[in-house]
Amino acid sequence: MPSTATSLVRASTIADARAEVRRLRDGGATIAFVPTMGALHAGHTSLVTVARSLSDAIVMSIFVNPLQFGPSEDFSRYPRPISDDDRIADEAGVDLLFRPSIGEMYPDSSTVRVTGGSVAGKWEGAARPGHFDGVLTVVAKLFNIIQPDVAVFGQKDLQQACLVKALVRDLDFRLAIEVAPTIREQDGVALSSRNRYLDPDERTRARVLSRALNATKAAFAAGERRLGALEQAGNPILRQARGVECDYFAVVNAVNFEREDPVAEGFAAIVAARVGSTRLIDNVILRSDDRD
Ligand code: AMP
Repeated sequence: MPSTATSLVRASTIADARAEVRRLRDGGATIAFVPTMGALHAGHTSLVTVARSLSDAIVMSIFVNPLQFGPSEDFSRYPRPISDDDRIADEAGVDLLFRPSIGEMYPDSSTVRVTGGSVAGKWEGAARPGHFDGVLTVVAKLFNIIQPDVAVFGQKDLQQACLVKALVRDLDFRLAIEVAPTIREQDGVALSSRNRYLDPDERTRARVLSRALNATKAAFAAGERRLGALEQAGNPILRQARGVECDYFAVVNAVNFEREDPVAEGFAAIVAARVGSTRLIDNVILRSDDRD
């Protein structure tokens, strides 16, 4: 049976999650879904706030999905603060928290995988082979289990959001995808569960990612449209930073993730960089009126 703690109902099996969703639906509720890997922060709770504005009931999943981690990545040390996450989800107003085990999601018989199109091989997909196939497989499973009316994803993972939209479109899932803005610390650093890995010195150095993105954003707002010039506005800031190893910094069409010249309204500046041993990603949308 699903267990109840205050108003938050928790489920760890697919059967229990489905039973609780059915109960919510029988009560007439529309359902919004917020998938996460836990280690919840204000970025995640902002998605819950958006979800609340779109529907009656909110389902959040917490699942550190082994399929989307490469063999040398941080799967085993990824933070799993279970009781903090329960409290944050409850306070944020989540109705059902689905936290399945790996065996529940991937029994030994599980072999079918969802693969992304060309966008899945670029940037994050090139740096992390197989990553987006893992993401799309788990998202497809979660959509089938929860069957929400809408799912909310963060712009923080822009390429992921783009691929999830393609998944819904190409495989005819019946739900809407909402993309919510990136929540940042006061100094510009995007909130991320992986920021916990940073020591104080690295945390200070991490500011350079948003500084570089903002330089490109400002150049676009000032009227620059040449791809090379826009990349050159931010790239050196990142390349010259001490203790920061740039993986990529680029301006791309936010639909196909190609570098296209000239750059147009709504394109994105995207970055991935290693600060110490922690790999961080971030992006901004380029707008002539300088909004993100
Ligand atoms: P994760 O737990 O890292 O898999 O993220 C779960 C969801 O939260 C994804 O849709 C992310 O894009 C979103 N997210 C992560 N960080 C932020 C942030 N700083 N602002 C808004 N959304 C975020």
